[in-house]
This record gives sequence, structure tokens and C-alpha cells, in this order.
Amino acid sequence: MKPEALSCAVECIICNQSMVLYGHADYYDRSSHFKTSIYFCKDCDIFYRPVDNAIRLDHHYAASYVQKQNEPAFYDARIHLFEYLISLVKKYTNRNSNTEER
Ligand SMILES: [Zn+2]
Repeated sequence: MKPEALSCAVECIICNQSMVLYGHADYYDRSSHFKTSIYFCKDCDIFYRPVDNAIRLDHHYAASYVQKQNEPAFYDARIHLFEYLISLVKKYTNRNSNTEER
């Protein structure tokens, strides 16, 4: 497990209230796999993984969803969700934000 700079009390990044430790989860960068703490804010109903920016940036180079060879699998797995989200936008705004000016 990599040392965490924020292993003491963690404040919510949105409301600044104290978050509760929810558990630990796997995380990785280009050189190693390790566990990080996961915190939860009851007021905001959000989870937060406090890792420093260097580790977070390195994770984004290692993540499976940024590997070119995985693009077709991720596209197939997620396209229906994105189409559904776009249909909701069109239903409630009656416009397509990619093609119409505001
Ligand atoms: Zn909060």
C-alpha cells in the first residue's frame, strides 16, 4: 500500500464536512497496484478517494479505459448509456448541445 498524504481526517471537497471512512479499494498506476482509502460524505452523498495529484495523473496513463486497444470494448459497453443520456437531454431541452448554439 502506498502511503497516503491524506490519511488523517478528510473533509468533503464540496461541503467541507468531515467524511467517514467507507473502506479501501484497489488502485494502480503504471508501476504498481495498491489500495487506497475511500471516504463518504453523508450530506453530499458522494464517495471520495484521496490520492495525491501525481498518483492520480499516473493512474490516468495506466487506466484500461485510455488504452487504445481497449477502445472498441469500452465503446460497445458504454454507447447505449451515452445514447440514453443524450436522449434525456433532447427530451428535456429539445436541443442537441453539440450542434446547436445557445
Ligand atoms: Zn459533502
